[in-house]
Parts: sequence; C-alpha cells; structure tokens
Amino acid sequence: MGRTASIIGLCVICAICALAAQAGRDTSPAPVAELLQNAAVKAALAAAKESEPQTIADQIRFCEIPAPEFKEEVRGAELKRVFQSLGLQNVRVDKVGNVLGDYPGASPRPHFVIAAHLDTVFPEATDVRVKREGAVLRGPGIGDDCRGLAVLVAIVREMKKANVQTPGSITFVANVGEEGLGDLRGVKQLFNETLKDQIDRFVSIDGTGIHVTNVAVGSHRYRVTFKGPGGHSFGAFGLANPIGAMGRAIAKIGEMQVPKQPKTTFNVGRVGGGTSVNSIPFEGWMEVDMRSSDPAALAAVDANFQKAVDAAVVEENQRWGHTNMVAAVKELVGDRPAGSTPESSAIVRTGLAAATVLGFNANVGEGSTDSNLPMSLKIPAITIGGGGRGTDAHALTESFDTTDAWKGTQYALLLTVALAQR
Ligand SMILES: [Zn+2]
Repeated sequence: MGRTASIIGLCVICAICALAAQAGRDTSPAPVAELLQNAAVKAALAAAKESEPQTIADQIRFCEIPAPEFKEEVRGAELKRVFQSLGLQNVRVDKVGNVLGDYPGASPRPHFVIAAHLDTVFPEATDVRVKREGAVLRGPGIGDDCRGLAVLVAIVREMKKANVQTPGSITFVANVGEEGLGDLRGVKQLFNETLKDQIDRFVSIDGTGIHVTNVAVGSHRYRVTFKGPGGHSFGAFGLANPIGAMGRAIAKIGEMQVPKQPKTTFNVGRVGGGTSVNSIPFEGWMEVDMRSSDPAALAAVDANFQKAVDAAVVEENQRWGHTNMVAAVKELVGDRPAGSTPESSAIVRTGLAAATVLGFNANVGEGSTDSNLPMSLKIPAITIGGGGRGTDAHALTESFDTTDAWKGTQYALLLTVALAQR
C-alpha cells in the first residue's frame, strides 16, 4: 500500500512537473541562501544596514516634494536625478511620467522590474513637511510610498557600490498613478507599452513592514449620473425624478448577494444632486465601489449592479407613466484588475525564502497595488513592504517608525538580486 501510495505520489509530482514545464514555469525558488555567501552581495547587505540613515534622509526628502495624483513630475525629476547620479543606465521618463533606469546583467533576460510609486493621495497645497519625534517620522506620504522610493534608491546605491553582478537584468522604476483615480496608469503604460513583453518578473515596494502580497483585490468604480427634465415640485408634479431612480437603485444594490469567499464587496460611497427642496431635480449622482480578488466574482457583482441601475430607471419612469424621461449614465472611473500569483510560484517562494534566510518573518496576504496589473496578465508579480512600521496611510497623520527599518532595505535588496537570477 505504501508502495502504491508512493507511485501515485510520484505520478502526481511528475504530472505537476510536466504541467509546470509545459507552462514554461519553474516553481523552485531562487537559491537565496547561496547568494548570501557571495562576497559582493554580503557587502551590499551590510552596507544597506549601515547606510540606513541615508535611506531615511532620502525618504524625508522625497516626501517633502509634493506629488498629488497626476502631478508627479517634480518628484519624478528628483528620482531621475538620483538614478543618474547613482550610475543607472538609460535613465528615461516615459510618456506618462514613469522614471526608469537600467542595471544590466550578463544577459537581457530574465528581466526583473522593481518599482515604487511616486504619487500620493494628498491634494496640492497639503503641508508635506516631515516632523521627526525620536524614531518616528510624521508626514503625509512618509510610508506610502516614500519608504518604497527610498528603499528602491538604496538598492541601486548599495548594489552599485558593491559591484553586484547578476545573470539577468534589472530595471528600477519610480512610477506614476498608483493611487485612487490614478487607476494604475503608470503600470498600465509600463506593461502595455514602455516595456511591453519585456518583463519576466515584477515587484512593487509599496508601504511598510515586511510582507509578500500575492493576491490582487480588483475593483470596479463607477460614477452614475441620473438625468431628467426637472421642474417645480408642485407645478410640475408627476415628472419622473432622477433622485427617485437613484434611491430605487441604491435599495436594489443594497440587496445584492455576494460570495463570502473570496471576499467580494460593494459600496455606494458618495451621492449628490438636486438644486433645492422645492424642485424636482434634473440630476442626481452616486459613486459606487466593488471589489474582489476573483475576476469572475467581480464581473458578477458588476453585472448585478448594472442590472440594478437599469431596472431602477425603468421602475421610476413607469411609476409616473413615462418612458425614458429619466435616464442613467454609468461611467467607469476605476478599473483595477483582480488576480493572484500562486503561493507555489517561484516568485512567492523566493519572496518568503529571502525573508527566512535573513532571519525575518514575512506573511503572504492580499492587497490592491500596482501588482494587480501584472497578476491579471499572469506575469509573476508580488508587492512587498519597505520595512519599518507605518500607521495612518492615506491620512494627514501618517507616520513611519524607523526602528529596525534597515531590515526592509536588506530584504528588498536580497530579493532584487535573487530575482535577477536565472
Ligand atoms: Zn501605496
């Protein structure tokens, strides 16, 4: 019986190997423990810890350059200057504002791309000065994602100084458009045009702590505008009402059923419209957000939402004996694809192994980051934190505790070298 079991076991393993070979994917992690024995890598890792004060100084400097969504140029120009001064090759800014610099290896492939995002959620004129209280830095954007940018730069600095050589090539990217209505436009440009078909592996350093995000929560966001002729609330009584239709739609959305696993959600987050209490409004609007890590579940909740809006409009018109008096326009204002990189994949296993050999603990988890896009394209991708401890991301009170933050720098550096192996 034991033998039968082992034969079956072997067959299963063979089948998995065959499938993996067929898919052209190797699921074994990079040899991170061996890399630790490499003199140049060792030197770079030691220097990453030693030069953490420089990394933190960079983090503060980047953070104090405002970079609201769609206005990342000034911070981008600073990253471009730093990439050039550190000796990256072919430093360039693409059409949407992503800043790229190459670290060529022995051959162009595998081509590993590591990125951190330039943009913040804070509008222009936000006070972005950073205050320091002991080990804690306070400032909007200090963790998300100035920490990522500073770690990105530290990797380049220490790999260059120690002359770390890699078989594959690396491109470092400071990208635009990760947050909110930026809608991943930086990575969309990167994967669809700037480096189309040239990226074999991707890591985004986003935020703080040490973790591996391998599940991408996708989202669809809509702004729905309900329109009608509008009129006097008394004199024109009997017209179909755009806000009436919206109310019906919200009630229907509230009754939608969604799976618990994977967690799938919906929310009507903002509403507005109307001009006065004694007018039938000519317009009402709402903003709706739906999320799931399962593309099919996201598509299903989206379809139900569309049906809810359409049915609500019909009912409102029917109630008042009209057809087409009120209409709704649904505008997709956010589209982050869902996806995941399997826990058994080489990139996730390498991500976890790199933490283990350094004596740190990394957990896998889910999130909504720049890696959503490559995950949806089935390109191996993960998002990691830049170390330290962050609180209140996306709030004016955001803070970053620098205690042992060097661990994040070391981790990202080792992972970078590991993912530029064959
Ligand atoms: Zn971020």
